[in-house]
Amino acid sequence: MSASSEQEPQWRDVLVAQIDAIGNQLCQAVDGTFDFYVHTDSDEIAIQKLAQLNNFTLDAVRRTIGELEQTRRELEMRVEERTQRLNLILSATNDGVWEWEIDSGYVTLSPRWARMLGQDAVEIRQPLESWLALIHPSDRSAVERAFYRHLDGLSDAVDIEYRLRNSRGAWRMMLCRGLCQRDDQGRALRMAGTLSDTTEQRLTDPLTGLPNGAYLELLMQERLHALPRPPLSLVKFQLLNVAQLFDGVSVEHAIAALRDLVQRLRRRLPARVALTALPEHTFAMVLELDAVAELDRVLEPVEALLAEPVEIESRLVWLSHVSGVAIVDLHEAASADEWRRQARLALASARQSDVGTRCYYSESLRQWEQHQGRAEQMIRGALANRGVRCFLQPIVDIVAGTARGFEALMRLEDPVEGLVNPGAFVEVAERTGLIAPLWEMLMDQALPVLKDPGMRERFGETFLISINLSPRQLMDPGLLELMLAACARHGVAQSRLQVEVTESAVLSDPVRASRMLERMREAGIQVAMDDFGSGYSSLAQLTSLPLDTVKIDRSLVFDVNTLPRKQHVLAAVVALCQRLEHGVVVEGVEDWETVTLLRQWGVRDIQGFFYARPMPMAQLIKQFELPLPLVPSDDPPAVATR
Ligand code: C2E
Ligand code: CA
Ligand code: CA
Repeated sequence: MSASSEQEPQWRDVLVAQIDAIGNQLCQAVDGTFDFYVHTDSDEIAIQKLAQLNNFTLDAVRRTIGELEQTRRELEMRVEERTQRLNLILSATNDGVWEWEIDSGYVTLSPRWARMLGQDAVEIRQPLESWLALIHPSDRSAVERAFYRHLDGLSDAVDIEYRLRNSRGAWRMMLCRGLCQRDDQGRALRMAGTLSDTTEQRLTDPLTGLPNGAYLELLMQERLHALPRPPLSLVKFQLLNVAQLFDGVSVEHAIAALRDLVQRLRRRLPARVALTALPEHTFAMVLELDAVAELDRVLEPVEALLAEPVEIESRLVWLSHVSGVAIVDLHEAASADEWRRQARLALASARQSDVGTRCYYSESLRQWEQHQGRAEQMIRGALANRGVRCFLQPIVDIVAGTARGFEALMRLEDPVEGLVNPGAFVEVAERTGLIAPLWEMLMDQALPVLKDPGMRERFGETFLISINLSPRQLMDPGLLELMLAACARHGVAQSRLQVEVTESAVLSDPVRASRMLERMREAGIQVAMDDFGSGYSSLAQLTSLPLDTVKIDRSLVFDVNTLPRKQHVLAAVVALCQRLEHGVVVEGVEDWETVTLLRQWGVRDIQGFFYARPMPMAQLIKQFELPLPLVPSDDPPAVATR
């Protein structure tokens, strides 16, 4: 008994040591290692059983872990695949992703979102307020309303388009869509959605397919706010007679021809330059250049292309254009408004010149604009106070010594400036359309001249009154009715009326202009081409237009005595008009030598300071003396009366 009680502690020690050994091995599992088996060299059945059970447990754990890993790998693969698909879709649609945690008030914005705003492509987390602050002030409250309406369950989704300022300060058009995630009680937890840049879709001109004016606006803002600001110019060009393309062909063909032209223009421009389409067949582009020589290099190929004819239904159409350029001063703060205004002004000034002109904005142009502003005020004042005056300048038939007619020339009576010549206001009157009411007032003074007893007594019953028509008036379909009504009102025959139209008036739409002139001639009104030989005279017009008379411009006459080469030109033009059996009036004749020359070439009708300056009717009756008629032997007359 005593021996066994001595052995008992020893046996217990062995048992404890064996359990401890198993425990030590299991420590590995505590550290997360399961790829081992528990070993024991004990003979004790219970200990072996314990070790075996541990090994079964380890097996089970190993299996579970393996399965879990397999599941995780599968899940990871699926997540990866989904992410790739989502990224693909998002990058194809150019969409950014946003998520707004309602409770914290923070939004998370995807890297693509950040890139769309011109920032580094990293995920951004910021208060909602910071996002809203980038929205255009006029759009912001609508965006907030859309968010909160959906949050409150009043709408099915957020779907709103607005302008957002990117990191370069330029405005972009954004379409924002979003949905709320809600808990069981319907409480909104988060809102998430996409943001797409719709700048280009929204900003396309349907006719040409080019970016439109709103796009140009964004582009200008973007370039102006770039840091550092590059050298910049805004170039605008306008096609003046696009109506020609549409004449007599199907609209689809004309549009196709225009689009084709636009594509050819694009190809002549540097690849990065966006050509944008504005109303009234005007095109614009922003160039990162500010030296005239460099601008020449870019613009000359474009202008050369525009000078080529456009082929449409096997017909060739020549388009006329003008262009205006505004260069941003590198050293001055510039606003898009001012820049746009300068380019508009340069273009307007080019329109006043010959076709093909390119005009740069300058200080003198600014003064010109100021002058135009003042001129407009003066015109409005004259209209309000009936300040239109009709001056008459005789067109003298030097052979018969009679007055062929009188040109009615407008003057304005201004309280400050006194009597103002057309040079100071006609351009503005034409541009603003105020020429029409001015002209009606002039007609009311010019037509009675035909019936005035003093005039009839001095100049007979057959002289014409010649009236100038502005390009705009010529395109007015109601013009003829207006003229006929005025003749009826004043009781004068329309056969004693002559209209003077300039080439540029006809050029903008020759077909329409011809039709109008034809109708006038059918009504008995005579038609004269004014200022022939100034600017771009087209001989084609001399043959194709319905004309009675050609008035040769004084630029061809000026100094003709001293310049023999000029004599050849003038003589040739006179001969040509005579061959085409048009009446010829030579304007701007200031001296007897010129009269002599013209006489030799068979010119009869002369208008110029040599005979009389424009003057009011009363003065004309009192002071103007017609020259003596030429007797056949006179060649030319020895004296002329002034
Ligand atoms: P225009 O139709 O060529 O008219 C002739 C202009 O030449 C007149 O200037 C006349 O004074 C000027 N002139 C005539 N003979 C001579 C000359 O020997 N030497 C010089 N240096 N000049 C001469 P005005 O009256 O100042 O008119 C200028 C222009 O204003 C006109 O040129 C015409 O284009 C426009 N205009 C005048 N009245 C009207 C109008 O009622 N309607 C429209 N649309 N335009 C008008
Ligand atoms: Ca005239
Ligand atoms: Ca003239």
